[in-house]
Parts: sequence; structure tokens; C-alpha cells
Amino acid sequence: MVKKTEKKIMAKEKTQGTGKVKKVVETAIACKDRLCPKHGDRKLKMRGRVFQGEVIRVLPGRVTIQFERMIKLPKYERYEKRKTKVHARLPDCMSGDVVVGDLIEIAETRPISKMIHFVVAKVIKVKEKKE
Ligand SMILES: [Zn+2]
Repeated sequence: MVKKTEKKIMAKEKTQGTGKVKKVVETAIACKDRLCPKHGDRKLKMRGRVFQGEVIRVLPGRVTIQFERMIKLPKYERYEKRKTKVHARLPDCMSGDVVVGDLIEIAETRPISKMIHFVVAKVIKVKEKKE
């Protein structure tokens, strides 16, 4: 019986300890997104393909980008433009920087959900304001 209670106490102390550590990390960085490649604790690695494209949609925690690519049509010996849309995760610390129309770069990560396996890497060009 004594051993059991001791274990319980130890477990409580451990959880309290980790909780304190987490709080300290959060206050130091002020980015609570666990899947943030820079600050997150779930180690979201950026590896693989990198794309640049125009933001066409901004949702909470997600952006959609679109870019054009050229496809050769051998029969007609000409090129065709095709559009590709890719969904990418938008970390909390970058949520204020991205607006529809911006040119951004995204990098491949492990699959985060059914449609999202990219994460926003950086903003290349902010959309020019019409005057
Ligand atoms: Zn962050």
C-alpha cells in the first residue's frame, strides 16, 4: 500500500513538472501552435518539395495556394497552362502575415490531415495595394 501511494505522488509531481515546463515555453515564445515548424513541440519537419504560389484562400490554420505549370502537348507541339491548388498549414505565429493575393512559399511535411501535407515556409511578396 505504501509503495502505491508513493507511486501516485511521484506521478502527480511528474505531471505538475511537465505542466510547468510547458507553461514556461509558451510564455517565452508566445506561439502555442504545436504543429509550428519553428516553435511547435511535435517536430514538424520541412522536407521534400517546395512550391511557390498565390494565396487564393485563407482559413483558420490553413491556406490554399494556386500556381500555374506548363504541360507540353506533343501532338500539337505547343504548351498548355494548367493550374494546381495545394492546401498548406498556416502556423499561428504567421496567421497575421498572410492575406489573399500574397505570393508565398510552402514546403512539404508529413501528412497532417487528409488534404494538408504542406506548411507555409515564408511570405515572398505582399500583394500590391491598388490606388
Ligand atoms: Zn510558431
